[in-house]
Amino acid sequence: MNQIKIYSTLSKSVEELMPMEEGKIKFFVCGPTVYDFPHLGHAKTYTQFDFIAKYLRWRGFEVNYLQNITDIDDKIIQRAAERNVEWKQLADEFEQIYKDDMLALGNTAVSKFARATDYIENIVSQVKRMLDMNLAYKVSDGSIYFEIAKFKDYGKLSGRTELKETDGVSRIDESDFKRGWNDFCLWKASKEGEPSWDNELGKGRPGWHIEDTAITEAEFGPQYDIHGGAIDLIFPHHEAEITQMESISGKAPFVRYWVHTGFLNINAQKMSKSLGNFKTIRDVLKNYDYRVLRYFFISNHYRVAMDFNENALEQAKNGLARIDEFIFNKVDAAYDDKDDEAEISKVKAKFCQALDNDLNTPRAFAALFDFVRARNAKEKSGKRTFEFLNQINSFVGFMKFDQTKSDEFIESLVAERDAARAGKDFAKSDEIRDRLLSMGVKIYDTKEGTKYRM
Ligand SMILES: [Zn+2]
Repeated sequence: MNQIKIYSTLSKSVEELMPMEEGKIKFFVCGPTVYDFPHLGHAKTYTQFDFIAKYLRWRGFEVNYLQNITDIDDKIIQRAAERNVEWKQLADEFEQIYKDDMLALGNTAVSKFARATDYIENIVSQVKRMLDMNLAYKVSDGSIYFEIAKFKDYGKLSGRTELKETDGVSRIDESDFKRGWNDFCLWKASKEGEPSWDNELGKGRPGWHIEDTAITEAEFGPQYDIHGGAIDLIFPHHEAEITQMESISGKAPFVRYWVHTGFLNINAQKMSKSLGNFKTIRDVLKNYDYRVLRYFFISNHYRVAMDFNENALEQAKNGLARIDEFIFNKVDAAYDDKDDEAEISKVKAKFCQALDNDLNTPRAFAALFDFVRARNAKEKSGKRTFEFLNQINSFVGFMKFDQTKSDEFIESLVAERDAARAGKDFAKSDEIRDRLLSMGVKIYDTKEGTKYRM
């Protein structure tokens, strides 16, 4: 097996990926808090991790991909009260919506989803150990906090120890009774009428950070290979996870490879409800094929901040169309292309070399497009090309192989050309006409509308 390298936020360098157990990777990614429709930022994060997990599998690793579902949280309680439903009903509803949206994006790599509320015993056990070790304390309202002054490595992931106003801090960390301003909540005492679990910690519910370490300790043990999440979770969330697990297990590092995906902006602005540019996955899928979104997220490097704008999406659409058209026009799986073997081995090696180096998709895609360009100049490509593209598709998931000349692909291009003509965008309508022509489809503008013939 070739060496794969990956960037870890902990070492701040690209490292060789060497799992604790040879050939097997324990891979955890922070999942959603299920109180609302998932948004475009979720689409980016989870599509990029879906691609990473699938690529590692294709490279021969057995990847156990675990994702938590935060199904108890202040936001859930609040939203349920607003809608006058039980918190559990709301959480179940949005968990299903999240899973449906992930499937709609082709994100299928997760091995197991773990709900926080199914791990209360593990959470209580962890908090109890921290109390026993005198690392945590109970305040007068009954909530329990971790005292960060007791953990000397606090800050080693993020390089920070202080909260800022802009951090994504769960509101349950606000308390007048904390010893230190940065101390974080492990167990939140419940007020009258709030959901709670009654046990030796007192009536309450878990803090935000504790569910992840309780779930991963139960499923993976005290140490594992890869922890992923979006970049804004580094502090305080991931810093707190390290603090909890390393202090109770005495084993470091808790996780060796911390993998973080870059931000997503919309038209160069942060996405937010107050700016009116908030987009749910469902909104976006009304306007774009899921394949275009996958192509857009995967063709950009996962660590780079991306901007979602019409231009960038148009570019993604065109890039994908070039691959679609190549498959459509030139690839014949029944044709024996043994003479192409060397050329295909070469591009495959280049492609993998780029991805093995911290998932460098821009470089890998450049190699793929060089190949497509070269093959387009030939009469046709056969089964070896077909197999190569199928292999790639097992982890990118945006290619389409079942195109026939009468299918919706052409219909959609014709409709797109009609729309361009209606909008007097003749450059675009000509471009689509040429594209159709290159596929052997001739267009006629008639009184009864656009007709086409092959
Ligand atoms: Zn998390």
